[in-house]
Amino acid sequence: MSRPAIAHIRLDAFRHNYRVAKQAHAGKALAVIKANAYGHGAVHCAKAIEGEADGFAVACLEEALQLREAGIPEPILLLEGFFEAIELPEIVANDLWIVVHAQWQVEILFAAKLAKPLHVWLKMDSGMHRVGLPPDEYVQAYERLKNHKNVGKIVLMTHFANADNVSSNHTLQQIETFQNTTQGLSAEISLANSAAILGWKQAKCDWTRPGIMLYGADPLMKADAKLKPVMQLTSKIISISNVKQGESIGYGSIFTAERDTVVGVVACGYADGYPRSAVTGTPIAVDGKMTRLIGRVSMDMLFVDLTDIPNATIGSQVELWGNQVSANAVATSAGTIAYELFCNVKRAHFQYFDAANI
Ligand SMILES: *Cc1c(COP(=O)(O)O)cnc(C)c1O
Repeated sequence: MSRPAIAHIRLDAFRHNYRVAKQAHAGKALAVIKANAYGHGAVHCAKAIEGEADGFAVACLEEALQLREAGIPEPILLLEGFFEAIELPEIVANDLWIVVHAQWQVEILFAAKLAKPLHVWLKMDSGMHRVGLPPDEYVQAYERLKNHKNVGKIVLMTHFANADNVSSNHTLQQIETFQNTTQGLSAEISLANSAAILGWKQAKCDWTRPGIMLYGADPLMKADAKLKPVMQLTSKIISISNVKQGESIGYGSIFTAERDTVVGVVACGYADGYPRSAVTGTPIAVDGKMTRLIGRVSMDMLFVDLTDIPNATIGSQVELWGNQVSANAVATSAGTIAYELFCNVKRAHFQYFDAANI
């Protein structure tokens, strides 16, 4: 028997979520599958919406080439563009789109000898202050790019810092800065990430860029989003013991039994991507019944409270997150976000499922 930690990936759920994202703003949607599709497997995810997706977005050339090598024909946007001039010939040869987010990229692009003009998404820093051209340099950069032989079509874009916070007006301020700056430019626009798609109708635009929602996690933590979880991380109980009230378990003895406790050990730990920072009480399901994580997560194993699940036995199925246990709930309990949980999954065996035509 092999190690039972398994990441089950539902590609039909991924496809469903892409459709939800696309319908929400009724425009075109670039499926963001950077970082190996947030840990889900970029080629599998891309193939699940091949022929349907308006395009894909990844972080860098290497990620895009992996998709091209797998035969993905759709447009692919490099969200950070290029890092060095040497990447440009390959970017052109593979028909990739680039984000231009800094003046140094503009200069490199102008100095290059390219076989074909490049499709550029010109990024503005409208208030996040991470990357992007400041508003007072933006229009001039746009005009220069527009008139240069190395540049084809230009899409205007920006990225939100607080779209997941519906009580902050920062997103509206960013939209206003963006609109004021780009007034009069006739180009397509791309504003919305998942949180803006779900929470900010004012961010409606030609191109959305959904990421996390494609994987079924709502960044606004609302229950009513019509998203389906894509990853179910499961493993099995490999040991059961009775621990008397007052005794402690695991590294650091950080959990002391408040009552006589039946303790299960699950073959999943932080080396599989389960967060070590998850605290006692983090939800977990055993044989379909909700219970809690107890004690400190170790590298290969973690503890679960089986006291109220008398039928649990060696080999019982454990869901770390997925269908019953929301990744958002585990993330919150561990002081992180579902994005990080998904990206960190490794060593677990990946199994892909697709109910065709859904
Ligand atoms: C990662 C990323 C996205 C997707 O963000 P989500 O919050 O996952 O929807 C969109 N746009 C840019 C520029 C990104 O880097």
